[in-house]
Amino acid sequence: MPKVGFAGLGIMGQPMARRLLAAGFPLTVFDISPARADPLIAAGASGASSAPELAAQSDVFITMLPDTPDVESVLFGEKGAWLGLKPGSIVIDMSTISPSATVKFAARLAEKGCEMLDAPVSGGQPGAVAGTLSIMVGGKKEVFDQCLPILQAMGKTINFFGPHGNGQKTKAVNQLVGSLNVLAMAEGVRLARAAGLDLDATVRTVAGGAAGSWMVANLGPKVIAGDFAPGFAIKLHHKDLRLVHELAAELGGEYPGLELTYSLFTAAVEKGLGGQGNQGLINLWK
Ligand code: NAD
Repeated sequence: MPKVGFAGLGIMGQPMARRLLAAGFPLTVFDISPARADPLIAAGASGASSAPELAAQSDVFITMLPDTPDVESVLFGEKGAWLGLKPGSIVIDMSTISPSATVKFAARLAEKGCEMLDAPVSGGQPGAVAGTLSIMVGGKKEVFDQCLPILQAMGKTINFFGPHGNGQKTKAVNQLVGSLNVLAMAEGVRLARAAGLDLDATVRTVAGGAAGSWMVANLGPKVIAGDFAPGFAIKLHHKDLRLVHELAAELGGEYPGLELTYSLFTAAVEKGLGGQGNQGLINLWK
């Protein structure tokens, strides 16, 4: 079995790394906040104290980090994995980052004889815990085939989309649709509340019909319970909409729904709601 290294043990990385351990992969972990590695080390993983150390111990190096500059710094920074990666190693970036930066990162890694896949995910923390993530992959098909058992330990719906960056472009589509569904959920709950309806029954009814969505089924009950803890933080969804916006600007065309949700998520961050889960969008109207 290939030796797997995992960098970024946050809300998603922690349970994803746990799935790899459970599937029997020899696993080494690293996070800039070292305490985040402790539960995984207790469960049988090895710890690394830097990205190069992690890379030196890994055949496959996985990143699950917040944004494009974080992935760039973990791969190519002063203390980047770059210094420890061996020719023939494979980097799988599962974070949501810029598609065009991904293409550049893959080219830089190729200079060192390393392969890269972009493999962002959807399914949230519950999907990461259950190993049922949807994973959208870009890169070379033979590298995808080689890495499939690793991806299968973390996800259930795993699709290959062709060249480097296409996994991230697919994720951009996903995040646009997701943001509109968050807005739909929030607006529906607000209207139901204003109309004096039974909120639990309304959410269950909408979730069970043609207007249902993951956002209504999973985030509707949280909103009703006043639970705004992050599964997926507003600041990260805002970051994703910035990436979608950049992609749409590159491609041209009108995306009025994107303009609306990007402006609302921007307003939510400006209002100080960035640390709340994306269901906290509803608090814009408090
Ligand atoms: P998070 O903020 O909970 O976790 C990020 C982790 O990366 C943290 O533990 C942080 O300490 C670590 N980190 C940051 N910089 C680092 C560095 N330089 N070196 C090592 N570790 C570093 O974020 P998350 O919610 O787990 O999301 C991670 C990625 O997955 C993001 O790109 C996000 O957009 C995407 N994503 C999140 C969800 C979700 O529901 N939370 C779903 C799908 C995709």
